Amino acid sequence: MSLSEISDRVGKTCAECGRPTSDVTLIAVSKVQPNDRVQTVLEEGHRVYGENKVQEAAGKWPGFRESFPDTELHLIGPLQSNKARQAMQLFDAIHTLDRPKLARKFADIAQEIGHCPELFIQVNTGLEDQKAGIAPDELDALVENARSMDLPVAGLMCIPPVHETPSLHFALLAKLAERNGLTGLSMGMSGDFEQAIKLGATHVRVGSAIFGARDYG
Ligand SMILES: *Cc1c(COP(=O)(O)O)cnc(C)c1O
Repeated sequence: MSLSEISDRVGKTCAECGRPTSDVTLIAVSKVQPNDRVQTVLEEGHRVYGENKVQEAAGKWPGFRESFPDTELHLIGPLQSNKARQAMQLFDAIHTLDRPKLARKFADIAQEIGHCPELFIQVNTGLEDQKAGIAPDELDALVENARSMDLPVAGLMCIPPVHETPSLHFALLAKLAERNGLTGLSMGMSGDFEQAIKLGATHVRVGSAIFGARDYG
């Protein structure tokens, strides 16, 4: 598959459900991919990328940004508090705010450095022990807490459990967002981004369908 094919599918799905294509941001997830593949997609004109590790992103994106300064970078992986500052300086958006302590940290650092990336709160919709994200029943309090510190909360993010029907989780996330007056929905990956768009996704995170399989070897 390729960037143009995935962009076309995003456009078609938007058309099918009567949404403008500009409603949906395609985040090309470049984690673990070799630099030449990322370079190719940059040269094709795509400017929104996702990474799941601060360290990895810090290693490769400053270089790419010298050639492609208008690149927008999204953190989509879990964030340790001690890497919050580095993440806030490197990323334009962070999709993995999931606890009050991290919200406090963001607020303190934002005061110091004078800006804060756009934030999404990750919700553990499947209540999986191994997965990051706040439990759905603790979400409203976290939204309120983040808002009270003037953090720019744009929406919610989820990663459905692998063996469950993703659309149930997408629908739940949409409901939770609506209840909290949030419009951003970061949901949908290579295998299910079309379903996510139909259920209201504003940000889809697509890796392997654009770049090919990741080689963790
Ligand atoms: C890796 C990753 C993706 C992309 O997964 P693909 O199946 O390759 O599209 C999306 N979201 C998160 C949080 C990821 O870590």
